Amino acid sequence: MSAPPRPTLVIVGRPNVGKSTLFNRITGSRRSIVGNEPGITRDRIRLEVRWRDRSFDVIDTGGMLFGDTNEFPVLIGGQVQAAIETAWQIVFLIDGRAEITATDRELADFLRRAGKPVTLAVNKCDTAKHQDLTAAFYELGIPDVFPISAEHGLGIETLLEHVAKDFPEGEQVSDQELIRVAIIGRPNVGKSTLLNKMTGQQRSIVSATPGTTRDAVDEDVEHGRTTFRFVDTAGIRRKGKTTLMAEKLSVVMAQRHIRLADVVLLILDATEGVTAGDATIGGYAQEAGRALILVVNKWDQASKEQRPAFKHQVRDNLRFLEYAPLAFLSALTGAGTQKLFPLIRKAYRASCRRIPTGELNRFLEAVDFERSTSPGSRRQKIQFVTQPDVRPPTFVFFTGRGDKFHFSFERFLINQLRRAFDFEGTPLVIKSKRKH
Ligand code: GDP
Ligand code: GDP
Repeated sequence: MSAPPRPTLVIVGRPNVGKSTLFNRITGSRRSIVGNEPGITRDRIRLEVRWRDRSFDVIDTGGMLFGDTNEFPVLIGGQVQAAIETAWQIVFLIDGRAEITATDRELADFLRRAGKPVTLAVNKCDTAKHQDLTAAFYELGIPDVFPISAEHGLGIETLLEHVAKDFPEGEQVSDQELIRVAIIGRPNVGKSTLLNKMTGQQRSIVSATPGTTRDAVDEDVEHGRTTFRFVDTAGIRRKGKTTLMAEKLSVVMAQRHIRLADVVLLILDATEGVTAGDATIGGYAQEAGRALILVVNKWDQASKEQRPAFKHQVRDNLRFLEYAPLAFLSALTGAGTQKLFPLIRKAYRASCRRIPTGELNRFLEAVDFERSTSPGSRRQKIQFVTQPDVRPPTFVFFTGRGDKFHFSFERFLINQLRRAFDFEGTPLVIKSKRKH
């Protein structure tokens, strides 16, 4: 079965007008190379984005155009033609601070003939004053003209509103899965070492655009149809200068990284055991409702025989994270690191799992409420259950009165759900509501 066609936005323009900067701005990735040398090869040209309720692909044709600013006629290669054929919308990008060049005219003609909707974006309008620059470009014969500054993030929302207005709303239709991964933990547990090991095999080109914060450097690793995006890798590598500073920084960073991620790797240190700091950081991941994997690092310093005891210690001290699978590995030697990829994928999918209402209510029928020892158990009163949300999966139990469930009864329901469906790796949320 072939995937349904995805809305595609293609960015075209002569070298150095800012295509790559715009691409990064829209996709939020800093993975493409941005530089002054025209014709520089990009390592990334197509990325999926989710903007408001719409999901679409953005293509940067920068690496596909041959020749430079002065070369005329520009060589429009087969790859550019192919990209334009798949386009739902084309953004023709132009440098608002430069004169119209022969290449601009040639590209404008070419795009108008392509029979696809074309929007002219006049880049480098960095201030309100610069917005007047657009007037000069109407002569290119493209009626939809928008001033933007890719570098400063100005006018981008308005441009996207215009180009994405006819893109379908709703769930992603891509068959390429993007999972954002955060690596969190106390100082010195091995976060940077693990990050290096997991991204190390990849040629990873990371660069900061002038004017953007150095904070947001993500690195992608592709495995089959899944892209694992390690978020804010600069932040993961950042170290505090003193122990206290490092400790504080790790907590602040953990909160930030959790927000950015779909799946969180909480790194524990086998040589130190589970500490209060681990519990604090793990608590944030749980509160945020993110999928979670507990990674026991530095396992090269322990033996296989110690595994059950350590497992026990983890489960005992981090009881509220009982849904998270445990992975024992050594970031230093690399032993066990590769198996994290399928674990991350599994936890992510669990967090996205949606159980149809019919199935849920058959589940409810089968629950043996007699086994609940909770004082708040009110078996007879649950009439109906639905799952209105995912990430994390959220269940609403409808009862006669809609009273909040007792904590232990919530635990009971969660355990029953976990037993019936595969939710390993994700927290679950339970709500009660009054049935009208
Ligand atoms: P591409 O060759 O079209 O992909 O262009 P790049 O994205 O590599 O950008 C070329 C140059 O223009 C870089 O030095 C960018 O920093 C700069 N640039 C990109 N967008 C803007 C902008 O909005 N304002 C200004 N002033 N410079 C920009
Ligand atoms: P971070 O502060 O959490 O980013 O920790 P680092 O990655 O900088 O690692 C802290 C120290 O632990 C370094 O000396 C690493 O070499 C060491 N380390 C990291 N992973 C392992 C491991 O799997 N085994 C051993 N024995 N040492 C490790």
